[in-house]
Amino acid sequence: NVIKYLNDLTLKQKQDFFDSFDLIFCDCDGVIWQTLHELLPGSPEAIDYLKRQGKEVIYVTNNSLSPIDMQLKKFERLGIEVKKNEIVHPAQTICDHLKSIQFDGLIFCLTSEAFKSQLREAGFNVMEELVGYVETLDDLRALINNDDPVKAVIIDGDFNLTASKLMRAHGYLKNNPECLFIGGAADILFTVGGNELMGAGIFISMLENTTQRKALVLGKPGVGLRDFIMDKHKIKNARRCLFIGDSIVSDIRFANVCGFQTLLVLTGSTTPEDLKSKLTEADTPDYVSECLADLNGFLS
Ligand code: PLP
Ligand code: CA
Repeated sequence: NVIKYLNDLTLKQKQDFFDSFDLIFCDCDGVIWQTLHELLPGSPEAIDYLKRQGKEVIYVTNNSLSPIDMQLKKFERLGIEVKKNEIVHPAQTICDHLKSIQFDGLIFCLTSEAFKSQLREAGFNVMEELVGYVETLDDLRALINNDDPVKAVIIDGDFNLTASKLMRAHGYLKNNPECLFIGGAADILFTVGGNELMGAGIFISMLENTTQRKALVLGKPGVGLRDFIMDKHKIKNARRCLFIGDSIVSDIRFANVCGFQTLLVLTGSTTPEDLKSKLTEADTPDYVSECLADLNGFLS
């Protein structure tokens, strides 16, 4: 699998590439904007160009710290026209999934407050956080002697995750095989302002390890999300889809699992050096480009 650099393609190769997809799945942070900066220059214009060329664009983000309505406002501020159902967002995908299985019951969340609010607004019953600091034997009793009727554990990006929350989640999952185990954003690492942070993926793996169970992962790079997207967007021929992302694992590995064509951009978590040292076969993109803006006026 040889990586092709978009800017090295001849006009004929560009035309063939462009004709080879109809639907674009576009990651947000590191492609359209960077979390701590408003915008990557030229991105709205590139998206506008792609749409004028007849491409459909769906946005796929793992950033559930920023609720879907906030993301909608951000698109609006940047002048990118988007409808709510064109954004794939972990909290939304999980709400849709729970509705589809008519889930009813108490949910224990290892997520941001924004994520919990979205579940509550969708009518789900989210447990209040009870466990604080565990120091005394009484605290320990409170941690282990709980008979809360938890029917689902959901884990997504949680900047306030503690060992005691993980231990509680472990208990619910281990003691009740019927308790659903659902993951959202499952980045192992993600980058904010050039800094690498640990993502929920690593904590999902910990719980999978200790409980000997598999989470249904409905954020990138989970196969649950693959099935959700294939179904929701009625994908018949995955090769006619192009996934654009900045993360080798969260985007490119995910898109390869989906069977999509892949374009890696270098405006986020991947540096040109990473291309030499970090790519395994499963992670190799079909195309690489400096930035999304390179697609603006691509065929002219
Ligand atoms: N997860 C969290 C908690 C984040 O804050 C971000 C970006 O800010 C991401 C994941 C990555 O988002 P995206 O999938 O849009 O790159
Ligand atoms: Ca990204």
